[in-house]
Amino acid sequence: MSESLQINVLLIEDRPEYARLLRDILAEESHLLFHIECAAKLETGLKRLSRGRTDLVLLDLSLPDSDGIETFNRVQNQVPSLPIVVFTGLNDEGLAIETLRKGAQDYVVKGDLDGKILSRTLRYAMERHRMQQAIRNLSLIDDLTGLYNRRGFWTIAEQHWHLARRNRRDLTVIMADVDNLKGINDAFGHLAGDQAIKDIADILKSSFRKSDIIARIGGDEFAVMAVEAARGNVQILIRRLEENLAKWNQPSSRIYRLSLSNGSTNFDAESGVTMEEMMARADESLYAHKRSKHHQSDVA
Ligand SMILES: [Mg+2]
Repeated sequence: MSESLQINVLLIEDRPEYARLLRDILAEESHLLFHIECAAKLETGLKRLSRGRTDLVLLDLSLPDSDGIETFNRVQNQVPSLPIVVFTGLNDEGLAIETLRKGAQDYVVKGDLDGKILSRTLRYAMERHRMQQAIRNLSLIDDLTGLYNRRGFWTIAEQHWHLARRNRRDLTVIMADVDNLKGINDAFGHLAGDQAIKDIADILKSSFRKSDIIARIGGDEFAVMAVEAARGNVQILIRRLEENLAKWNQPSSRIYRLSLSNGSTNFDAESGVTMEEMMARADESLYAHKRSKHHQSDVA
């Protein structure tokens, strides 16, 4: 971090004397410029955060309009990309530690303020948060389903594509898209929507082989690369997927039904088709299926 960089801190704290105190003790740390803005309520703090240009949030958990872990949750939900340091009273340390488990970067005890330590705490919180974000961006795994994410799919699938071309073997790519996920979200809320995505992931896992590459490549889009699938087998694989979906939908206790549109394409090693072309063809096939369903019913 450059030493001349200004760090914009939003202090959400109902007692104004703390803003003055923090400005005073941090001003002595002359090599770094902390700019401290203060919001006295959660609502004004959230409003300020929505305008951007904040680097770090220093958060008191007991505010006039919100108290305890709820305060932390609401700030974190609104700005998951910002580091949060909890600003707590001595008697609240247990709660502060709970926020660490939920993703707070650190906590500072109000009665124990020292400019050097505070300055270091805030800088380290920012650095740690930056590293965590970078690692998350490098990840090949989708957090929600445990399947590969888009990056993971391309990384692994491309290797298989090279191998298949060299060894003159066939590959199949199947793309699937959840029908009417928006309807599930609208009717039952986003937690149900997330659960539906996880259910689809389980159905895909039970429908394909361990050696196949299964990924969630978008919000409601999945891709499978079936390695060494003989050409005629694609229809068998898709039939198995549809049977597993039907089995899942059978119990009358299900609050929502799951349905998938799918498309597939086969890679013929002789044809010189690139990985990108193969993905584009599978995608076209998927959308053709979706359009044909649209004609039959009002599936979104
Ligand atoms: Mg307070």
